[in-house]
Amino acid sequence: MEPSQTAFTLPSVLSEKEDLNTVNSILLETFKLCNETKSDLLEYSSDPNNDLTQFKENVMDIAGLQKDLSALIDTVDSIESEIPEDCEPNLEEVSTIFDRVHLFNLQNQQLNEEAKNIINAVDTYISNQNSAANVDSELQVTDAISSYKDPITKALIEDPVKSKKCNHSFERKSILKYLQKYNKCPYSGCASILKRDDIVEDLALKRKLLNMR
Ligand SMILES: [Zn+2]
Repeated sequence: MEPSQTAFTLPSVLSEKEDLNTVNSILLETFKLCNETKSDLLEYSSDPNNDLTQFKENVMDIAGLQKDLSALIDTVDSIESEIPEDCEPNLEEVSTIFDRVHLFNLQNQQLNEEAKNIINAVDTYISNQNSAANVDSELQVTDAISSYKDPITKALIEDPVKSKKCNHSFERKSILKYLQKYNKCPYSGCASILKRDDIVEDLALKRKLLNMR
């Protein structure tokens, strides 16, 4: 095949990659903004359940897009590494590599960690709100006062996270440090076995703390 007939050349793949990386970094930046939006919704929304559910859908869309984009970047990396620099690649060669690696990259790409944390926290918040709706309000008040304090440092919680397993709340730094050494909930009388993955942001407590300021 003549070089003039090829749609792909190594330089075109490389410039493509630069564009992909630019879009990718914009999407990664968007997750940071999503984190701020989440806090704003928690603090100011009059209907946080509804707004956060809607918001989560949007975060999932962006996260899906970013995941596909990351896979594409990996694929372009593979194409680049498999074709020697001094070689003029032809379309056939490039598409053979593409077909071989791209599906694999798509299937193995993980959802962005920051986006995953937002989605998990919103899910936990919504499911807790739904189940808390039936709980006696007096019990909730007593519960709330003690849950403002971290059980490990006894200090007031500033960056609240909670256990998905037992619903106990903690200061983020404090519990993550604790779980490096132990694998259980630090609340006395709570027998829950905890791992780092069981800890999600406590949006309900975060809303309370934001509204207390
Ligand atoms: Zn617990």
